[in-house]
Amino acid sequence: MSEYEPKYVVVNMVEEAEKLVTKFEIDTVTKFTIFSRNKGFSHDLDCLQGHRVLWEDKGQEEGVKVPCNGTPFIILGFDVRECHFGPDRNTMKKKKYQMEKTIEADQDHSYTQKSRTLVQNTKKLDCPARIYMKKICKFPDYKILGHDSIWKRKKQVQKLKKALSTNEDMLREEEIHIFFPGIESHKNHLTGQRWVWLFRKNLFNIRVSTTNGLERQHLKLKQDYLSQTSDKSLSSLVNVLFSQVFPDSYNRYIDYNARSLESIKAYASIVPRFLKNRPRLRCW
Ligand SMILES: [Zn+2]
Repeated sequence: MSEYEPKYVVVNMVEEAEKLVTKFEIDTVTKFTIFSRNKGFSHDLDCLQGHRVLWEDKGQEEGVKVPCNGTPFIILGFDVRECHFGPDRNTMKKKKYQMEKTIEADQDHSYTQKSRTLVQNTKKLDCPARIYMKKICKFPDYKILGHDSIWKRKKQVQKLKKALSTNEDMLREEEIHIFFPGIESHKNHLTGQRWVWLFRKNLFNIRVSTTNGLERQHLKLKQDYLSQTSDKSLSSLVNVLFSQVFPDSYNRYIDYNARSLESIKAYASIVPRFLKNRPRLRCW
């Protein structure tokens, strides 16, 4: 499936890029948070003077690489997101906050105000998976025509820089280059997709018509689905239900009923005709 492989996508608007990131998170059942982003990525820059003019961007080992096609460009901004199971970057801050709270609680002898420690054990697992984005501005008016040479490039850069400094009218094409990591980039934790797959192998049929059945559904929801997310809000619960629990449940229902068909598996000869090829009862 394509969402398991690393992907490279180019779009023209930051909004489009954001939509793709959200879709990617839903499709791969992952969550990414902003690790580093500069102003040029989210805002339009008034002045493009002083930026380095490039012909290609080889980037780092992983991430965005802009190939050379003879058109000069500048990098306006970048945005790097890391998996929410990534490195814990706030340990010092959290420790400091916890110490301050403890000191405060020690000094405060009033019993009317209860101090609560809000610091929770971190769920960070050092996962290295990252989404890399770069926003670039291309200048097609300064494209090198014909044979490419260092001399031609230098000349075009000079012309372009002069035009930029005098705010001359010119064609500008913005592009957002996005690198999406493959599922293999996630380390030290199960990804939603992998987890769902594992879970599907361990199916069992429960009817929610008994209290015991209902309790077991509740437990499964908490242990298998909600334990994968640190966000305890209602919207997160609804998201998990609609993006994971219900689709899984539906697929299992189909799976299970298909498996009780005569064409998939032969019935024992003693099974009477009226019991064959009947849908099985299950709730999710
Ligand atoms: Zn991860």
